[in-house]
Amino acid sequence: MFQCHVCGSKEARKTFVTQLLMLDAKPVIVENVPAQVCVRCGEAIFDMATVEQIRYMIHGEAKPVKSIMTEVFTLSPPSMSHVNSKASMPLS
Ligand SMILES: [Zn+2]
Repeated sequence: MFQCHVCGSKEARKTFVTQLLMLDAKPVIVENVPAQVCVRCGEAIFDMATVEQIRYMIHGEAKPVKSIMTEVFTLSPPSMSHVNSKASMPLS
């Protein structure tokens, strides 16, 4: 019986998702992961066999099907660029 561990909803749909995992601080992407996705909050829940399979794949002998460049965004304050360094900053 499905129950979402985030919102408690009992409704989910079975689908395939693309999952981003961190492997020793290196992001890896696993496609076509069978999951139950909560219809209310979108949380994806995987069964133990799937988790084991993924763990075996990324730690084992399986070769990635492709490699991609990824753009990374952050909400941290940007560091001072050279362009802005000459502007007068009241707080500096
Ligand atoms: Zn949920």
